[in-house]
Amino acid sequence: MTFKSSILSLATACCLFGCATASPDKAKNVILFIADGMGPAHVDATVHTHLSQTVDANGDPARLSFEAFPVAGSITTFASDSLVTDSAASGTSLSAGIKTFNGAIGVDDDKKPVETITEIAKARGLATGVVSSVGINHATPAAFYAKNESRRNYDDIFQQLLAADFVDVAIGGGVFGEETAFQAAKESADPAKLAFFTTEDFHDLTAETAAGKRVIASLDTDGDHKLMYVFDRQREETDEPELKDLTVKALELLQPREGGFFLMVEGGSIDWAGHANEIDPLMGEVLGLSDAVEATLEYLERTGELEDTLILLTSDHETGGLTLTGPYGKVGVDRGEMEFHFSTTNHTAAAVRVYGRGPGAEMSQGRQDQTNIFRTMKAALGD
Ligand SMILES: [Zn+2]
Repeated sequence: MTFKSSILSLATACCLFGCATASPDKAKNVILFIADGMGPAHVDATVHTHLSQTVDANGDPARLSFEAFPVAGSITTFASDSLVTDSAASGTSLSAGIKTFNGAIGVDDDKKPVETITEIAKARGLATGVVSSVGINHATPAAFYAKNESRRNYDDIFQQLLAADFVDVAIGGGVFGEETAFQAAKESADPAKLAFFTTEDFHDLTAETAAGKRVIASLDTDGDHKLMYVFDRQREETDEPELKDLTVKALELLQPREGGFFLMVEGGSIDWAGHANEIDPLMGEVLGLSDAVEATLEYLERTGELEDTLILLTSDHETGGLTLTGPYGKVGVDRGEMEFHFSTTNHTAAAVRVYGRGPGAEMSQGRQDQTNIFRTMKAALGD
C-alpha cells in the first residue's frame, strides 16, 4: 500500500466509523457527571458485589445505570506537570479543555484564567448548575466557576461562587474554609438576587421560590463537608439528602428556565473513600451516583427532554489503585469471595472510562484524552 492510499484508507475508515472531529447534533441540554476517583475496577467491584446475583429482562447481568449508555470510551487524565493528576487540574481539563498544573482551578500554566463550559453555556443562553456530594467550593465543582492558582484558597473560591452570575444553581454537601462564610453570605446578599438554602429548608426550594434568583445550597448537618455516605445511611439517621435528591432538585430549578441548561454533577465521595481504602463506602458512593443518573434519566423522560440532552459520565482520575481478584471457576460471586486490593492511598495514572448518550455523545467514543470531554460538550452546544 502506498502512502497516499493509506491516507485514503484512513479517510474512508473515518467516514465509516465516525471521526472525533465530525459535527455532532446540537443538544438542548448538557449534563456532565463526574465520578471523582472512580476507575474501571471501582465500577466492576460494585457491579460484581451488588448486582451480579441479579439479571435483567434479557437474562444479562444487571448494570449500573450509566453502563447502559450507548457510547463508551477510555480517557487519559494527566496534568501538565504530573502524570498523576489531582481533581483541580483534572476538573479544569474537563471544564475548559486545557492541561494545567496540579492544584490549578480554572487557570492555565501561566496562571491566566480560562473560559469554562459553564461560562460558554451561559453566554449561549442556557441556565447553569453545579452539584456535588461534597463541599461546593471543593476542587471539582470549583473548576466549573472559579479561577485560582490554588484549590486550597477555599474562602476566595467561595467568594467567587457568590459573585459568579453565570452560575444559576449551586448545591453541595457543605462549604469548605471559614465556618461562618455561608451564614455571613446569606446575611449580606441581596435576597432578591441570591437565595440560600440548608437541609432545614431544602424542601422549600422550588422553581417557584427560586424564580429569578441564583441559588446556593449547603447541605451539611455535621460539619464533615459531604453528604452522609450511602453506606452509613443503612444504620444512621440523617437529615442530609442524597446525591440523587440534589440532582433532581437542580433539574427542577434549571429545566423550567428558558433556553436549555448545563449541569455538572459530582459524586465526590468516591474519591474520599478511595483515599481511605474503604471498599464498602466506596461502592456505596458508586451506587449513589448510579442512582443520581437513573433519577436524571427518569426526570428527563418524564419532561420529554431525554433525547435532546447530551449526558456524559466520566472520572477525573482513579483513586486507590484498586484491583479485584478471585475466585476462579465461578461467575456470580457471593459477598466475601471477591478480594479487593488497594495499591495506594493516593490517585493513580490509570485511564478512566467515559460513558455517553444523547446528541453528540459519539465524539467520546473510543480512546481520548479528557480534554475531549470539554470539546464534546462545547460542540453539542453549537460551535
Ligand atoms: Zn482525591
